[in-house]
Amino acid sequence: TPGPLTLGRWTTDRAAIEPARAAIVDRGVVVSYGELEARATALAHALGEAGHGLGARIATVTGSTADQVVLLFACAKAGAVLVPLSWRLTAGELAAQLRIADPSLLLVEDDHRPVADAALERLGDAASTRIPTTALGAAGAESSVPDALRPVAAAAPRDDDALLMLFTSGTTSAPKAVVLSHANCAWANLSLSRATPLTPDDIVLQVLPQHHVAGWNVQPLLAWWVGACVVLERTFDAGRALALIERHRVTATMGVPTTFRALIQHPDFQARDLSSVRTAVVGGGMLDPRAAEQLARTGIVVRQGYGLTEAAPNVALTRDESDAGTVGRPYPHVDVALLVDGRVEQGAGTGELLVRGPAVFQGYFRDPEATAAASLGPWLRTGDLVARDASGRIRIVDRVKDIVRSGGESIAPIEVELALLEHPAVIDAAVAGVPSERWGEELVAWVVLAEPADDAALHAHLDGRLADFKHPKRFLVVDGIPRTTSGKPLRRALIAAFEAARAEAR
Ligand code: ATP
Repeated sequence: TPGPLTLGRWTTDRAAIEPARAAIVDRGVVVSYGELEARATALAHALGEAGHGLGARIATVTGSTADQVVLLFACAKAGAVLVPLSWRLTAGELAAQLRIADPSLLLVEDDHRPVADAALERLGDAASTRIPTTALGAAGAESSVPDALRPVAAAAPRDDDALLMLFTSGTTSAPKAVVLSHANCAWANLSLSRATPLTPDDIVLQVLPQHHVAGWNVQPLLAWWVGACVVLERTFDAGRALALIERHRVTATMGVPTTFRALIQHPDFQARDLSSVRTAVVGGGMLDPRAAEQLARTGIVVRQGYGLTEAAPNVALTRDESDAGTVGRPYPHVDVALLVDGRVEQGAGTGELLVRGPAVFQGYFRDPEATAAASLGPWLRTGDLVARDASGRIRIVDRVKDIVRSGGESIAPIEVELALLEHPAVIDAAVAGVPSERWGEELVAWVVLAEPADDAALHAHLDGRLADFKHPKRFLVVDGIPRTTSGKPLRRALIAAFEAARAEAR
């Protein structure tokens, strides 16, 4: 029998209780728990019979769809590993991830066929003939429903078997393949349900992509565990998301800071009835206080989270206003410590955040070196510099690698970005250090403006908010900030573009 924490049972149990209840709404089409279970079981059989059972890796290139949810539960039943790849990648990037993931099957949504084909072509003949490719919805579609009633006998995944392989956003380095087991996902959802529970009556709006860990483990999987309904958005569009909240009376949603800023900046924001939203979680970065206030005025109180793919991802979450400016305290079942001058310390202080617990991953796929570099004994090294106060609240300073050293001072770009976002004209901002002969590194700010604001106005705004040495030496007005699909500013790309332009000007 499958391990007690494996996810294959989740839909079986829900379907037995209330088969007609809606599990998913995908572009207006409702999938009930009964259908989800029947389709997932049929597909699990089909996968097993075609040799993609226990331990097989099944890669996908698709927007967020009900078909992919069916596939996840089918993988869970068959013991296979779902590897959802980003549809936003270039053919070269996709080829690199396919090379690492080495899947036995690739399922592609029709819209993304060209990039998938181009990626396979780059991998060469051997790979493109070895990796069979088919349309996502077609996989297992011919399996008959009576078949679905047969349990998937051959497959009995254990709790520690892999369920999901997810590539990190690639903000600081090339994306790494994080392997999450059934147990990691079960515990991540248990933690989430203890911090911010969902009930069967909740309607969750999912806007984060399914190739990111938050697209599964921050609300959607918990919703399917408890029997709630998830309204899936294939890709995020602010206007459509606002309309969906009103139409479906959405009660819960999650996003990255850019998601919520886009909602606020949309012309329909005031006009839509958003009063049904009971819980909203933001992660992947800090939501600026001005945006949080604007949301609170419409009744949406956002809880600020912190996490990383390797921790599946939930690490810390705010509870109430007293946590403002921080990411609150750790979730239940998550232990944290600080790495200060090479020592692991409990208690208050500033250092690299260390995390451990049953949701933390076992390692990167086929990469023992990177796995070793990310661990310290039982701890996961997050690479994030944080400050912890005596009550255990955690404030994210910034990534250790992104701290700017300028004229002997250390500056955290996040702090400067948040201060800039408080200026009424600034609708988006990214800050990074560029090499400087005089200062070692100097701070540059890229800003997107809603209305004109000159350097003097921006400096005047920062006066009183930030010490002089934290003021950017240069402001560059841009049309948009390049970001990962999880909303993080691509500081490295901005620095490279800045350096290239500077070299050309010389
Ligand atoms: P890579 O390791 O490839 O660079 P990544 O670290 O961006 O990718 P993710 O797992 O998507 O991959 O992101 C986790 C990181 O996001 C955290 O380590 C942290 O730096 C950042 N992050 C998450 N939540 C917050 C937050 N509330 N405030 C600031 N940063 C955050």
